[in-house]
Amino acid sequence: LELIKKLEETIENVPDFPIPGIQFKDICPIFLQPKLYEEVIADLADFSRGKIDAVCGIESRGYLFGIAIAVALDVPFVLIRKAGKLPPPFVGEKYDLEYGSAEIEMKTGHLKPGQRILIHDDLLATGGTTEAAAKLVAKQGAIPAQFSFLIDLEALKGKERLQKFDAEVYSILQY
Ligand code: 5GP
Repeated sequence: LELIKKLEETIENVPDFPIPGIQFKDICPIFLQPKLYEEVIADLADFSRGKIDAVCGIESRGYLFGIAIAVALDVPFVLIRKAGKLPPPFVGEKYDLEYGSAEIEMKTGHLKPGQRILIHDDLLATGGTTEAAAKLVAKQGAIPAQFSFLIDLEALKGKERLQKFDAEVYSILQY
């Protein structure tokens, strides 16, 4: 509860960014408080301890917490990148955005078949990005076993969208 209060005070709400009507949650002030960052990592690591074999983090804010979770749990970390940035070999997954589409990619062979995977990102909105990440994990024979986020924007129903994976979903804060 203490952690939730501290995060609520620290995360900044930026109106009309990146487009009018959107309330952007800026998590960057967390990094100004190393002790608070440590508490966030400890909380997210507790959720996944003993339940996963590797962590996948989604570019780019998902890396800032995902790799620390992986180190805390002594498991591998694998990057999920926006298309066009990874050297081959890699696998990709296309997904629809509100307007147009996007694609994410991951190195081939870094996940092993049967591994239980935590997919981590800073924020869950519609769940489109996370859903594509989970499909990418499943494509390689690994199991999307858990999803974690700092923030869940509940009105956008991302959690419902992730139900099809039969995985645990956790967020520290809900708005
Ligand atoms: P979704 O695919 O769930 O609709 O969008 C989630 C993705 O958009 C995440 O990768 C997240 O980092 C980014 N995102 C969307 N809105 C916000 C926001 O208000 N704050 C932050 N930090 N990230 C956001």
